[in-house]
Amino acid sequence: MNLNLITQKFTKIFPGDFSGNTMQRQTPEVMFCTVKPAHFNDAELIDFNEKLSEEIGLGKIEDQTDKDFLVAQNLPENIETYATAYAGHQFGNWAGQLGDGRAIFAGEIINKNRQTEIQWKGAGATPYSRNADGRAVLRSSIREYLMSEAMYHLGVPTTRALSLSKTGEDVIRDIQYSGNPQKEQGAVVVRTAESFLRFGHFELLSARKQNELLKQLADYSIENFFPEVQSENNSSKYIDWFQAICDRTLRMIIHWYRVGFVHGVMNTDNMSILGLTIDYGPFSMMDGYDLEFTPNTTDLPGRRYAFGKQAQISHWNLAALANAIFPLINNQEVLEKILDGFGRQFWVKHDQMLAQKFGFDEVLAEDEKFFTEWQQMMQDLNLDYTLFFQNLEKPISEFKVEDFKDAFYRNLNENELKKLSDFIEKYRQRKLKNKISESESFQLMSKTNPKFVLRNFLLFEAIQAAENGNYEMFFQLKKALENPYEILYPEFNQKRPSKYDNQTGSSQLSCSS
Ligand code: AMP
Ligand code: MG
Repeated sequence: MNLNLITQKFTKIFPGDFSGNTMQRQTPEVMFCTVKPAHFNDAELIDFNEKLSEEIGLGKIEDQTDKDFLVAQNLPENIETYATAYAGHQFGNWAGQLGDGRAIFAGEIINKNRQTEIQWKGAGATPYSRNADGRAVLRSSIREYLMSEAMYHLGVPTTRALSLSKTGEDVIRDIQYSGNPQKEQGAVVVRTAESFLRFGHFELLSARKQNELLKQLADYSIENFFPEVQSENNSSKYIDWFQAICDRTLRMIIHWYRVGFVHGVMNTDNMSILGLTIDYGPFSMMDGYDLEFTPNTTDLPGRRYAFGKQAQISHWNLAALANAIFPLINNQEVLEKILDGFGRQFWVKHDQMLAQKFGFDEVLAEDEKFFTEWQQMMQDLNLDYTLFFQNLEKPISEFKVEDFKDAFYRNLNENELKKLSDFIEKYRQRKLKNKISESESFQLMSKTNPKFVLRNFLLFEAIQAAENGNYEMFFQLKKALENPYEILYPEFNQKRPSKYDNQTGSSQLSCSS
């Protein structure tokens, strides 16, 4: 690997604490601290994403130094590792300083003008670990490793995963926070993104009233990651930038709704300034359609981050970001206008996305009613989101209610079956208004509606096997997720079996990772 190409651009520009002291503490003057990763003597590489490595300019694994790099051991001298400080609003409340508690940066690499930041997740404690150990367990590392790649192949903006290794170390976790801590296998994921900058990085500087640094970080972000914002001689540069952040966030959220992804912890520290899906924790693909669905047991009382609330919460988070960057813009009216635009644009883009899922060539005036009725039916009947749309991909003359049975999570009564058949009839009528041919409509549907989604129960099964040393299913899932618009493994193309309805680690997840 070309480890010599890794640079330390960020740490050269911004103020940092180079003491290497990992004591957990507030770091009021600086934006990062250098830290040393933990020692892992028995680490074992499970999987390496060579294609991604080539793309970003790191190349193939050649020797022991490369293998060591993937678990943050015996690093070459040019790599000075660090953790960054950020803040955030968690579940609606200001949480103050947070920071990379178990993510450690290697730096950036530039290939073909594209910059990529590289991090280890789970490689040790930092000043921002907040009384925790800075480690990650195999279970959550497999989830992040596979899901971030699944999202990438689905076409959703996301951070990516370069490698997954076991550290050889045991980690203690209490999955259900029930006073039953257990030993689990430790793991490290190397993850990459053009940038890991979060809303929280800006919130921190703003809260500290470090307006000069705030401006500097905004400029860094615009120059490096926002080619769509004109950075020179542009008096509305920061306004355009905020607009671009809103646009990118909107794009991401629409994709989440398209594929049925629920993030689970949309705190502002988990929101990427670049509009990437970031920090895969208690996420889930939605099985049965339910706007109130959240996999995160910590969020169950308020369901703040439920599937149906993700647009609203993005708006809330963008408003928090607007507050943070206010000193750069000093114009409340213009910020409010952009935020209002987000709300309006959401519905326009959402309807366009739904139209594609249904195979319509355009959104007609009558479709708002059609989509609302569809949503109500899905909610009432709790049909499987992914399988429902797969079932629509056939000639309208052949539709039968029985064909939708594979998407039922319970026996539907007569009334409910009638609701479904009434809807199918409406769909048939609506499809007749298409100006494109039936085959063109199918093409549109088959590139919009995934045939494979990485459901939590599949992850759960693969993790159980992996914890016992069997990685067969892990590698099958990896292959399936690389081709999500095809059916490679029919056994993965099924609804969640009922035995997983209330299973911890499948339908219920905590933040313990
Ligand atoms: P999350 O809810 O996973 O986004 O985490 C919130 C904050 O807690 C972040 O600053 C994380 O870096 C930190 N954190 C979570 N788990 C750990 C851990 N095991 N060790 C250290 N820091 C952690
Ligand atoms: Mg986080």
